[in-house]
Amino acid sequence: MEKRTKYILAATAMLVFCINSTLVCGAKENNSPVDNEERSVFTRTDFAMDTPIAETLYTTGEDITEEITQVINDADAKWISWSEESSELYQINESSGEEFLLSDEMAGYLEKVMKLWEDSDGALDPTLGKLTQLWNLGGENPTVPEEEEIQDALAHTGFGSVELDGKSLTMEKGCTLDLGAAGKGIVCDEIISYLEQQPEVTAAIVNLGGSSVTAYGQKPDGSQWRVAVTDPRDTQGDYLGSVTIYGGEFLSTSGDYQRYIIEDGIRYHHILDPQTGYPARSGVTGVTVVCSNGLIADGLSTACFVLGWEKAEPLLEKYGADALFVDEEQHVYLTEGMKERFQLLKDNYSIQ
Ligand code: ADP
Ligand code: MG
Repeated sequence: MEKRTKYILAATAMLVFCINSTLVCGAKENNSPVDNEERSVFTRTDFAMDTPIAETLYTTGEDITEEITQVINDADAKWISWSEESSELYQINESSGEEFLLSDEMAGYLEKVMKLWEDSDGALDPTLGKLTQLWNLGGENPTVPEEEEIQDALAHTGFGSVELDGKSLTMEKGCTLDLGAAGKGIVCDEIISYLEQQPEVTAAIVNLGGSSVTAYGQKPDGSQWRVAVTDPRDTQGDYLGSVTIYGGEFLSTSGDYQRYIIEDGIRYHHILDPQTGYPARSGVTGVTVVCSNGLIADGLSTACFVLGWEKAEPLLEKYGADALFVDEEQHVYLTEGMKERFQLLKDNYSIQ
C-alpha cells in the first residue's frame, strides 16, 4: 500500500511537470485558438503494469482517461504480461520447443523486436527470460546469482534460439522470451491506435512510470510537450533536464536507477548484458530516446544502455532516433537532433 502511495505521488509529480501548467481535473479550457471548439482537459493518475500512470487529455467530448488505462491493462493482459496465463507471451513460453502460431499483433511486435535484436548486434535480446527471472531485479526477491546459475540461464539464449517466419514462431526448448524491454513501448503504440479512433480527442500525453511517454496531437495553445528527465543519481531530487516532444512522438528512458539492488557496494540493476549475463556496464547511467514508434523507442533505450554512447550512434542513426546519454562522470551526450530538444536543469552535469 505504502509503495502504491509513493507511486501515485510520483505520478502526480510527473504529470504536473509533463503538462507544464496547473490544471484542475475536468476544468474547462477557453475557446481554442486551433479550432474554436469548446474543449475540456482531463487528467488522471493511475496504476497499471506495476507502474504509476499519468494521463492528460484534451477533448471536445467526454472524459475517456479511464478507457486509456483500460487500453494499457488490456494490452498487457492480452500480449505482454508473463505472469498472466491469458497473455500470448505466457502461452509462447509454455510452448517452447514447439511451433507456435502468433496473433497478427504479436507477429508484428516480434518482427520489430527481432530486427532491433539484429541491428543492435544482440544488445537487445528478447531471449533473456531465464536470466531476468534468475536475477529477479524487478521482482520480490532480487538476488546476485552464482556464476554457474548465470551460465545455465544463458544456455538457451541468443541468435539461433528463436526462429520467426511470418506468424510461425519456434523457440528452442528451454528458451524463455522476455518483452520487458519493449512492453511499455508496445502499450504506447496501442494507446495511439486507440486515440486515433476518437475523433473528439485533440491532444493527449500519457506517461507510464516516467520511463515511457506518448504524445498525441497538438495542445490548444500550440506549445510542445516537455518531459522531465530524472537525474540518475538524484532520483528524488530536481530533474536533470527536460526534453521537448511533438504529437506522434514517443520518449523512452532506460536507467540503472529504475530497479536495482546494492550488494558489497556494487549496483546490480535490471538491464543485463546478454554477453556476460550481468548488469550492463557501459559507463552509462541513463539513456533517453525519442522517435516516432513506441516499441522502437523503448527497445532502443534498452539497447543503447547496453551499447554505450559510441557504439549506439549508428543504431540511432539507422532508426532516425534522437537520444541523450548520461554517464558516471555526470557528462551528458546528445545526438544532433537532441540538442534542439534538451534543456539541462542541473549545473553539476555538463554537456559534452
Ligand atoms: P523499463 O521497462 O523498466 O522502463 P527497459 O525498457 O530498459 O526498462 O527494460 C528493462 C527490462 O527488459 C528488464 O526488466 C528485463 O525484463 C528486460 N531486459 C533486461 N536486459 C535486457 C536486454 N539486454 N535485452 C532485452 N531485454 C532486457
Ligand atoms: Mg526499453
